[in-house]
Amino acid sequence: MSVLLEINNLSISFGGSNKQKKVLNKVSFHLSKNEILGVVGESGSGKSLTSLAIMGLLPENCDIDGEIIYNSNNLLEIKESVFQKIRGASIAMVFQEPMSALNPSMRCGKQVTEVLLTHNKLKTTEARSQVLELFEKVKLPNPKRIYKAYPHELSGGQKQRVVIAMAIACKPKILIADEPTTALDVTVQKEIIELLAEIQSNSGMSVIFISHDLSLVASIASRVAVMYRGEMVEIGSTKTIFNSPEHLYTKALIASKPDLNIRLKKLPTVEDVLSKNIENKIISKEERDAAQQEIYNQKPLLEVNSLSKYYPIQKGVFSSRQLYTAVNQVSFKLYPGETLGLVGESGCGKSTLSNAILMLDPPSKGEILFEQKCITSFDKKALKKLRKDIQIIFQDPFASLNPRISVGKAILEPMTVHNIGNDIKDRTAKVKALLLQVGLKQEDFYKYPHEFSGGQRQRVGIARA
Ligand code: ADP
Ligand code: MG
Repeated sequence: MSVLLEINNLSISFGGSNKQKKVLNKVSFHLSKNEILGVVGESGSGKSLTSLAIMGLLPENCDIDGEIIYNSNNLLEIKESVFQKIRGASIAMVFQEPMSALNPSMRCGKQVTEVLLTHNKLKTTEARSQVLELFEKVKLPNPKRIYKAYPHELSGGQKQRVVIAMAIACKPKILIADEPTTALDVTVQKEIIELLAEIQSNSGMSVIFISHDLSLVASIASRVAVMYRGEMVEIGSTKTIFNSPEHLYTKALIASKPDLNIRLKKLPTVEDVLSKNIENKIISKEERDAAQQEIYNQKPLLEVNSLSKYYPIQKGVFSSRQLYTAVNQVSFKLYPGETLGLVGESGCGKSTLSNAILMLDPPSKGEILFEQKCITSFDKKALKKLRKDIQIIFQDPFASLNPRISVGKAILEPMTVHNIGNDIKDRTAKVKALLLQVGLKQEDFYKYPHEFSGGQRQRVGIARA
């Protein structure tokens, strides 16, 4: 197969000449025509920076070394005006977080139309019909409605389909999909993967599919590259990588996948496997029963009784207002120390239910008891205290962080509101301890959201919660 893209010894570092931090170290690989190359590696290993480098979208404050050869040109050396003709047209990208890839204040149809018009001479009516065709292709229901809809009116999966439509609008030769399904539910995830595979086989384009999820990559890619701490440690056919991995890290990555039939006391991380520091202690059935008995002998911490949430929908100008039932008479109890799993396909009401429990969007009917008190009738002061007691980690870490506030400040702010810690010095120390606790560094206090990888950003969200 002929080579379409070639990366040679790509290195990237941040921090200028004095305090260099190398985040990518001599990465080399190629992409052939008509293939799906999977790239796996844990959060922070350099996957996104590699794709941003290929797109010519690296931040200005970094040093780059090496070559990215496309069409006999080194993309690292061409002028920005030349790159603009390649970006979006020949090489396109689907980003990790669909919510932040779309402009929230612009209708979906217009956003895709703009991409088409940037690279092609088209009449607006032609562009419109091409966009509707694209929406058809990415299997969006009712393309005309989606054309006129704003991003917030779509589900996560639908938004990602719009982003994919935007990426394939100009029939690119290379599509880079950077964790395109990480922010989505498992069922939607499968549909998006199938869609990408179908588009690839119909168009013959080449795809770089990036994920931290090894089995997901295996389900779509023909070749897999493994990244670890800024290096590409192994590359080969999907079969070879899975059946006979050579590099220690790849072996550890495969070994750290938990077995669903055994309950380990502590799940091993890749680092644990690498340092052979695995505790294989298993939780026995007796131990589980005893622990559960202890949990369920208590009074419930949270009790949801027949909770319903309705949203008004306006069908036509003259028709009467109708109600859409987003959550229908849900009841459950949550006990102190319990982890309760709530699953269901996209759009089934999980987030609506959480927003009701947080009293961000109160329920239409039903009762929510927290420590035996009915929180739906709480006044402002009681609600403020409740906000401290019930915390949330959001689906989309980027959208939940303010890009202009350092992550340290973002974690510190709610502490100030709720009077946690004596003074700013005390709070700062507490935030730094929290950062360490979630696996980040103390210095990360002063960094901004864009300086983190997606997984690291979610750690910030956990620290704040
Ligand atoms: P991932 O494999 O999760 O996609 P990334 O490529 O996003 O990882 O990040 C690789 C490393 O580079 C991480 O340690 C991250 O903190 C660092 N990094 C990413 N962007 C920046 C930036 N703008 N400034 C400084 N460091 C960065
Ligand atoms: Mg990433």
